[in-house]
Amino acid sequence: MGAGLAGALMAVMLGRRGYRVTLCERRPDPRAAGFVGGRSINLALSCRGITALKCVGLADEVLRDAIRMPGRMMHSPRGELTFQAYSGDANDAINSVSRSLLNLTLLDAADACESVTLNFDCRCVDADLEAPAAIIADAHTGETHRIEGDAVIGADGVFSAVRGRMQRTDRFDYEQRYLEHGYKELVIPPASACGVDPAAHDGFAMPPQALHIWPRGGSMMIALPNADRSFTCTLFWPFEGAGSFADVRGEAQVAAFFREHFADAVPLMPTLLEDFAHNPVGSLVTVRCEPWHRGRVVLVGDAAHAVVPFYGQGINCGFEDCRVLDALLEEHSGDFEPAFAEFSRARKDDADAIADLALDNFVTMRDRVNDPAFLARKRVEHVLQGIDPERFMPLYNLVSFSNMPYAEARARGERVVALAERLVETIGVEATRTLDDSALRARIMHEVATGEMR
Ligand SMILES: Cc1cc2nc3c(=O)[nH]c(=O)nc-3n(C[C@H](O)[C@H](O)[C@H](O)COP(=O)(O)OP(=O)(O)OC[C@H]3O[C@@H](n4cnc5c(N)ncnc54)[C@H](O)[C@@H]3O)c2cc1C
Repeated sequence: MGAGLAGALMAVMLGRRGYRVTLCERRPDPRAAGFVGGRSINLALSCRGITALKCVGLADEVLRDAIRMPGRMMHSPRGELTFQAYSGDANDAINSVSRSLLNLTLLDAADACESVTLNFDCRCVDADLEAPAAIIADAHTGETHRIEGDAVIGADGVFSAVRGRMQRTDRFDYEQRYLEHGYKELVIPPASACGVDPAAHDGFAMPPQALHIWPRGGSMMIALPNADRSFTCTLFWPFEGAGSFADVRGEAQVAAFFREHFADAVPLMPTLLEDFAHNPVGSLVTVRCEPWHRGRVVLVGDAAHAVVPFYGQGINCGFEDCRVLDALLEEHSGDFEPAFAEFSRARKDDADAIADLALDNFVTMRDRVNDPAFLARKRVEHVLQGIDPERFMPLYNLVSFSNMPYAEARARGERVVALAERLVETIGVEATRTLDDSALRARIMHEVATGEMR
């Protein structure tokens, strides 16, 4: 159920193994009707998502149009730019990809599998967990019918109908928590449309090889580059209170607020006031539930674990679900029930770990990325990574540039964070920032070798 990103990839994986798959999507076919997203226009794809796409031979096609982002570009209130690499290894980068193109690529690949049938305008309204079966309503007539199968996979997103049925069974845990912040998408068009010399950044209005961040304490704006040389900006603001969506309204207030807080972005946003007035405010929710299966019915992607977007891991985690479930089905020779039970058991802690990390990273992104102590710690982490990548791989790298299970990545990464914090304390924030690379490396090696910092 659901032909979004996770559902479409799952269908490709199953279809290529020869399973007969009926994929039901409540929306019209985006290949005919145009993409009706309702979510972010682009997203950051990293190692886990790419690894899953590689399993079905689609990674190269998806990455062909992607824009590499090896670091974040901080915009201070005065418009100064600071680039921070995500990793001590220059090969590491996250990738900005178009959500709609990614979905279309996956749908085409699913359609190309002989054993996969795509049904659009079909809304799952209920599930029969015993049979198992899905109850489907036709979007035009409203008529319902049952689709029986050997298994039902709920990939129907954060407000999953399949999960809705599971929630009404005994001993099913469920929690949803909204953030007090919402988001609104805005646009920075290509350089030529906002008076910037197109030669300066290859047609973009700002350097494209970065995820841009305007951290402003209680709120922030980010921007990811698109292949058409525009940027999609996402403004994360509180719903209520001072400087919130409820507080800053009307053209004059919005313009004044942006001039005060995002001064360097304003000249690059010629349609700011129209976009602000017309684009909706989305909410951000974390969903946790357990177990993710009932018999031969299972949940994948946001249906099982919606996370806030601040680690850029939502669909990376969803694609990893598909890869893990596909491998378990092979391991269990297609026996759905034990494969689903093991999947649920194996993935739950990992989903909880990335949900927590994503919430923490919101605070880091909006409050800490300009903090000298934080920057000193990051530098130390990168030096540690260079000294012994096996032992000292930083948390961000383990999450974004490895396939290590999230819970293990968090435990190991947090040990490196603690070590880096102790090193900054010993060496001093100022020295950590001003020593040249080789002097800092020598100092850190000395401390690690002789101190209790192991
Ligand atoms: C602002 C924002 C930015 C984000 N940025 C990133 C990022 O940079 N990197 C990243 O990895 N993740 C990001 N995410 C998270 C990512 O978008 C989600 O994790 C991802 O879309 C989940 O995919 P999914 O297929 O599980 O669910 P969805 O994408 O929600 O797809 C579910 C599909 O099921 C369909 N459906 C729903 N209900 C029914 C029903 N009853 N019957 C039939 N069909 C149904 C829907 O129409 C949809 O097509 C971001 C999210 C947001 C909100």
